[in-house]
This record gives sequence, structure tokens and C-alpha cells, in this order.
Amino acid sequence: MSVDGASFNLDVVPSRPRRVKYVRTVSQISEIPEDQKALLEQVAQRYVFRANDYYLKLIDWSDPDDPIKQLIIPRVEELEDFGKLDASDEGTHTVSRGVQHKYADTVLLLCNEVCGAYCRYCFRKRLFMDDNDETTHDVSEGLAYIRRHHEVTDVLLTGGDPLIMSSRRLREIIFELSKIPHVRIIRIGTKMPAFNPYRVLDDPDLQELFRRYSTSDCRIYLMAHFDHPRELTEPAIEGIMLLTRLGVQTVNQCPVIRGVNDDAAVLAEMFETLSTIGCPQYYLFQCRPTSGNAAYEIPIVRSFQLFDEARRRVSGLSRRARFVLSHATGKVEVLGIDSRRMYCRYHRAKNAADEGRLMLFKRDDEAYWLDQLVSCS
Ligand code: SF4
Repeated sequence: MSVDGASFNLDVVPSRPRRVKYVRTVSQISEIPEDQKALLEQVAQRYVFRANDYYLKLIDWSDPDDPIKQLIIPRVEELEDFGKLDASDEGTHTVSRGVQHKYADTVLLLCNEVCGAYCRYCFRKRLFMDDNDETTHDVSEGLAYIRRHHEVTDVLLTGGDPLIMSSRRLREIIFELSKIPHVRIIRIGTKMPAFNPYRVLDDPDLQELFRRYSTSDCRIYLMAHFDHPRELTEPAIEGIMLLTRLGVQTVNQCPVIRGVNDDAAVLAEMFETLSTIGCPQYYLFQCRPTSGNAAYEIPIVRSFQLFDEARRRVSGLSRRARFVLSHATGKVEVLGIDSRRMYCRYHRAKNAADEGRLMLFKRDDEAYWLDQLVSCS
């Protein structure tokens, strides 16, 4: 195959694309005991459920605590009263429908409200609810906004998952962005390499799009979302390696989730494998206290300890990740914790005056979120 005069081997593309089969109700999953199905359907009425046969096959059903199962199968604890639907007040950064502008250089286009499957702990689960209007398929206003705002160098396509959109639609958006001279980075936030790696492996149009539009003037970054090393299957790794060959820079970001990856050995294994395949961990997030997430949360101190221990087990290149809280006021990095204090810094700040500001809090082993911490004055 030749694109823009360059030849490269895409012999991984089969003659017919491998398609996953979507599963939209818990009742369709034969491994779930009959007596649990009605209750779990109730949970799915509140927080939508969707999976696919490829991802469901990763579950070890003989293990009641299987991490992949915890990630994707509803749990009755989701009905407990907990948190806020929009825990980081993302809605307050909306400048027009589907357009969020929080940090001067970065604009988010929420261009799609569907994902390849739904993570139970999702911080954007509100977008999948019927009455939500924070996303839009029509990005024309967003593009006009970016054209007017010359300080915007980075655009993040998100949602939902942009790779659920057709390659034609994605191409239209990326083509328009590529014509805006001040846009230097186009990021695609996606869990498709984990949920359905064939989306990348089997679509020559998508591959050509990446090859053509990820250039030295405007680089495409794929912000992958692997939560557990078991998601790094052979096709998932092939997908990441292919993206690299196509000129896409891949990095990984994910939260620490109770029952999924709250284990330093698991995180370390994932960081090492990701570095080896060229998709290093970028951020490890504190899970946002989002509605329905009581069963998935871990206190900040414990999350940081797991992160710190995982980092100690890996080599230098796997240690570059930061542990952060995506707070309404900015990305707050936890730098260290001792017996009495928590040392934090604004890695990104909504208010430019806060950029880089150090903060000292009293250590609180029960706190889940920044708002619960008490400042050391
Ligand atoms: S892929 Fe991202 S947006 Fe989609 S359900 Fe998972 S966390 Fe939410």
C-alpha cells in the first residue's frame, strides 16, 4: 500500500474486517446467574450497559473478582447514593455545545456520545443519559471557535469515544483541524484499542487517515485507555504497534479503580508492557467521585501509595507517569505524602495564576477527593 508516496506494509489487514458483536443487555450474558440478572438490569437502567464479545471473552468467569468483569459488568452497589454526576464540573467549561475550554491552549470537542463498551466507573456517564446535551455530532461551531482562538494549540477529540465514529466522519473533522495553522496537536481519547483492537487493525481508511494527517506540523496523539495488563492482548498490542508505524504517538492514561487495578504489581506490569510497546503511561488518575462509583473508589493516599510502589518496581522510562486529580480548578498532581502531610501542585490550572502552585494538605487517609482535604496554613 502507498500513501503520499510512502510505502508501508499493512499485511495485518484481513480481506474482511473482523467485527465484534455488541451486547446491550446483561441478560444476554449466559455466564451471569439467572437470579442476578433482574437486579443488574435495574442498575443498567440507571447507568447504561454495553459490551462486546471480544471484550467479554477476556473475563475469567471462574474468578468472582475478575478485574475485567469488575470493569464492565454492572454491580448493585452502583445504586448507592454517592458522588456527583459531573464530579469535576466539566459542564462549567462548556463554551458552546460539545466544546469545552478549560486550559488556554487546549480545547475539547465532545463529538460523540457512544463508547465501544461502557466502563462502570466512567466519569462521563452523564453523557450517555437521554437528557444530556453536552455532546454534538456537528462540530462546526467548535471548529469556528478554535479558528478564532489562536492560543489553542491542542484539540482533544473525546466524548464518548471518537473511534466509534466512521473513519469518513473522523477524517472530515481531522482534515478541518489540520487546516488551522495554530493547531499543532490533535488528541484522540479512546478506549477502542482495549475494547476492540480490530477497529484499528482492520480499517485501511482509518490507517490512511492517521498516516496522512499525523505530520511534523500537526501530530496526532492517541490517548489510549488500558486499565489492566490483561487488556494488552496480542491484537491490542498489534494495534498500538501499527499506530506507531502510521506516525501516531500513543500514550496511556487511566484511573486507579478498586477491584480492577488497585495492585502495585498489576500497575507495574502494565506500565512496563506499555513502555515496551511504545505507549507509555502518561497520567494515572484518582478515580473521580462520580455518581454510582462507591464500589470503585479508593482513597487518594492509597491510590498514591499504589502508584508510588508501582513506579519503584519499573525502570526509568516507565516512571514518567504522574498521579493527578482532575479537579474543577485544574489537574492537581500529588507529589508525595509523609506521615502528616500531602504535597501537591497544580500541573495544569484553570486560573493561570495557579499554574505550578504548590499546595500542602493535612494527610487524610479517608479522603477521596481534593475538596475533602484540609489545607496546612
Ligand atoms: S471509554 Fe472513557 S468515556 Fe467511554 S465509558 Fe470508558 S471511561 Fe467513559
